[in-house]
Amino acid sequence: MKWFYRCHSCGARYDIVPGRYLCDACATRQIPKRPLEGVLEAQWEGDPGPGSVPLPVEQNWFPCMPVGNTPLWSPMRLRDEFGAPNLWIKDDTRNPSGSLKDRASFLIAAFAKRHGLSEIVLASTGNAASSMAAVGAAAGLRIKVFLPVTAPPAKRIQVLQYGAELITVDGTYDHAYELSLEYSNRTGSLSRNTAYNPLTIEGKKTVAFEIVDDLIKAKGGAPDHVFLPVGDGAILAGVYRGFEDLLRLGRLREMPTLWACQAQGSSAIARALASADAGGDAFGDPIASNTIADSIAVDVPRNGLRALAKLRKYGGKSVVVSDTEILRAQKTLSSASGLFAEPSSSAAFAGWLKARESIAVGDTCILLITGSGLKDVSAAAKGLGLEQIPGETR
Ligand SMILES: *Cc1c(COP(=O)(O)O)cnc(C)c1O
Repeated sequence: MKWFYRCHSCGARYDIVPGRYLCDACATRQIPKRPLEGVLEAQWEGDPGPGSVPLPVEQNWFPCMPVGNTPLWSPMRLRDEFGAPNLWIKDDTRNPSGSLKDRASFLIAAFAKRHGLSEIVLASTGNAASSMAAVGAAAGLRIKVFLPVTAPPAKRIQVLQYGAELITVDGTYDHAYELSLEYSNRTGSLSRNTAYNPLTIEGKKTVAFEIVDDLIKAKGGAPDHVFLPVGDGAILAGVYRGFEDLLRLGRLREMPTLWACQAQGSSAIARALASADAGGDAFGDPIASNTIADSIAVDVPRNGLRALAKLRKYGGKSVVVSDTEILRAQKTLSSASGLFAEPSSSAAFAGWLKARESIAVGDTCILLITGSGLKDVSAAAKGLGLEQIPGETR
């Protein structure tokens, strides 16, 4: 197979080599505090072989770690309670570091090994960092992460526990993003920043392959709707990318409807979609994010332009939920299915609760549960109305 990068906006073609992140021509249009211009997309030519997932790094470079192949299961009590006979959970909390981010880290680590690079650097709201630290430990790579001070303690502890270097940034995720880029540009370390490194999105597409394959095995047909949490829009793009591959390979007939679930306090992509649909400007000045769902709290969605283009191309939808709805959904999901999801992932469930009336009862709906609730117990404690965690003394 032959692999290359293509600019999602002008179509320019580039080799997949270390140091190549954005399109040379389009990146010059970059405006501060707006989504990245010139984001590249990995493309392939040739025949990937039956049943396989086409990926741009050969399998022999993959870290020895069981990433992906997470369960797709039927939440029977939720199905009964909400009269949704074809509701499914794709449980990506079951990845080694507890989130879907491991899929991206896995491919980035393989790429680093393939090219003899020893250090990976990134900014994160928390999960990308803990994920890269975990996969880096398995692969024997040096990992340096820039995290905002507000990142939940469990995610920071994970970073240190896995042996990565933690740089705490007294500012927002957006600030950490800039600092990490400064560092990687200066040192030549491999950047894993989401959207900026196109392989993050390529790694995340494996979840779409598993959803389609496992639904067939479970005699569940093809997915009609996928509900997922959206911050920077990289998971969204990854899921679209996987479905695009499957369509091209003849393993899927129709593009499912993707529902971009966003928190009210961080809804740039939903706003851009509404504005673009009305013929207006997509992304205006950023609004400071403010939500309990830290993993989807971004001021500027880095992958916003590409995510928006995909939503518009395929008729994707957005749904915005409040923090109260997120916490309520988190509790409902936990107590009626046994799955404890972090607030971002609970936003996907909250989005489904809000949108389900507009969906045909028999349609196959997938809830993409991206991260474990154990990563942020203080958010859940708030949802339970606890001032203090029982048994804890001050
Ligand atoms: C990163 C993350 C998201 C959001 O993904 P984006 O690519 O930023 O849209 C959602 N849920 C979890 C658990 C995450 O870690």
